[in-house]
Amino acid sequence: MNTADLSFLESVNASFNLAADALDLPKGLGRQIRTCNAVCEMKFGVELKGGYEIFTGWRATHSEHVLPAKGGIRYAPFANQQEVEALAALMTYKCSIVNIPFAGSKGALCIDPKNYSLEELDHITRRFAQELDKRGLLGPGVNVPAPDMGTGQRMMSWIADEYQKLHPNEINARACVTGKPVHFGGVQGRIEATGRGVQYGIQEFFRHPGDVKKANLEGSLEGKKIIIQGLGNVGYHAAKFLEEEDGAKIIGIIERNGAIICDQGLNTEEVYQYKIQYGKLEGFPHGKFLENGEDALKLPCDILIPAAMEGVISRANASQINAKLIAEAANGPITFDADKILQDKGVFIIPDTYLNAGGVTVSYFEWLKNLSHVRFGRMDRRFVEAQGEKTIKLLESGIEKCLDEHAKADLIKGPDEITLVRSGLEDTMREAYQEIKEMHLSNPKIHDRRTAAFASAIRKIADIYDSMYL
Ligand code: GLU
Repeated sequence: MNTADLSFLESVNASFNLAADALDLPKGLGRQIRTCNAVCEMKFGVELKGGYEIFTGWRATHSEHVLPAKGGIRYAPFANQQEVEALAALMTYKCSIVNIPFAGSKGALCIDPKNYSLEELDHITRRFAQELDKRGLLGPGVNVPAPDMGTGQRMMSWIADEYQKLHPNEINARACVTGKPVHFGGVQGRIEATGRGVQYGIQEFFRHPGDVKKANLEGSLEGKKIIIQGLGNVGYHAAKFLEEEDGAKIIGIIERNGAIICDQGLNTEEVYQYKIQYGKLEGFPHGKFLENGEDALKLPCDILIPAAMEGVISRANASQINAKLIAEAANGPITFDADKILQDKGVFIIPDTYLNAGGVTVSYFEWLKNLSHVRFGRMDRRFVEAQGEKTIKLLESGIEKCLDEHAKADLIKGPDEITLVRSGLEDTMREAYQEIKEMHLSNPKIHDRRTAAFASAIRKIADIYDSMYL
C-alpha cells in the first residue's frame, strides 16, 4: 500500500465523516457513533509442545446501541488493534445498513494458523474463548463472534463448546457464536452466505437501469466480464454463483501467488479444486498464468470484485483500474484516497458495508434459530405442501386437465431451511440496496453510494440514540 494513503481506520472514519456531514445530526452525535466504545487487548499463555506460548488477541466493541454486538474473529499473523477497530466499526454500519439488530464488534488473534496442528488450534481457541468470556466479551446477549479470515466452522464449534462448559445452565449457550457447523447448531447456507449476498447485491444493481447506465454498462449480468481477487470462501462462492447461475464470465482470478486469466471465461469450480490440490494457480491447464497478480487487477473488465484484503486498491494503482463497476466483497479493499480517484474516473462502486453484509445477515438467522431451538421450516413445511396440493386439485378439477407432474412437484414443494435462508438474505440485500439508493437520490450533499450507505447507517443509529435520550 502506498504510504501516502490514509490507514484502514482513517479511511473508514473519513468515509463516515463525509456521510455525517451530509446529515443534520445533533451536535456531537456523529462523533459518539463513530468512536469505538471499548477495545480489549488480551495476552494469554497456552501450554503447547511442553512449554508455554504467549498469544496476543483483541476484541473491539465499537457500539452498543443494540445488543448483542456482532462480528467475526480473524486469525492472522499481521493482526493489529487498529485493524480490529476499523473492522468493528464496519460491523456497526453493516448491521445497520441491512437492518440487522446487532451492534458492531470484531476480534483478532495474532497467529498464523498454518503453523499449528488442529489439536493445538483447538487448545488455543478454547483459551481465547475463556479470556473473552471472563471479560464479558462472549455470550448470546452481549457479544457474538463469527468466522472471518483464518477462522471457520470448526473454531466456532470449539468456542460454542467451551462457552457451554463454562455456562452449563445457559439454555441459549449455542447462540454465543455463529458460523457453527449445521450439526452443532449452525444454519444451512452460512458458509456460502457472504458470497451469496454479493451475488444478490450485484443482481439488484442490474435491476436499476439508471445505475447500470451510470456505470457505463448495459443489459444484464449475462456475459459480463468479471475479475475476482481472492478465491477464499467469499470470492469462491461469489464467482461460482455469478458464473453458474447468472451466466457471467469469470475472466480473471487473482490469488496471493499469481493470477489466472482467460477471456473466454474460467470454470470457477475447476480453478478452486486446482487451488485446493496444488495450493496455487500456477500450472492450471486453462488460461494464462500471470506471476504478478496485481497486473490482472488492472485489466479491462465489466466488474472487478476484490474479495480478499483491505487496502488492495490504493493511490498507487487506482488510476490504472479498468473496471466499470467495483463490487467490494472484502472489507475495506479501496482506501479513501483511491475511492476519490476511481469516482473521478466514473467507476461505480457498490460498497463493502452493504455488499458483504450477507455473512452477518445469515449469522443473524443462525442466532434466531439458536434462540428458538427449532430449525427453519419445521413447523410449516408440510402444511404449506398440503395447501399447495389442495389448490392444485381444485385447479385441475376446474380446468378438467392434469398439470405437468414436474411443474406440480415444484409448486407444491414446501420451503426447507436453505430455501428460507436464501429468501431472507435476498430480501435483505434487495431492500438495503433500495434504501441506499433512496438516501443517495434524496440528499443533494451525497454524491456516491458509499457515502449513501454510511448515511443510511448513521441515520438509523442516530434515531436509536435519539429515542434513548428522550
Ligand atoms: N466476518 C464476517 C464479516 O466481516 C461475518 C460477521 C458475522 O457473521 O458476525 O461480516
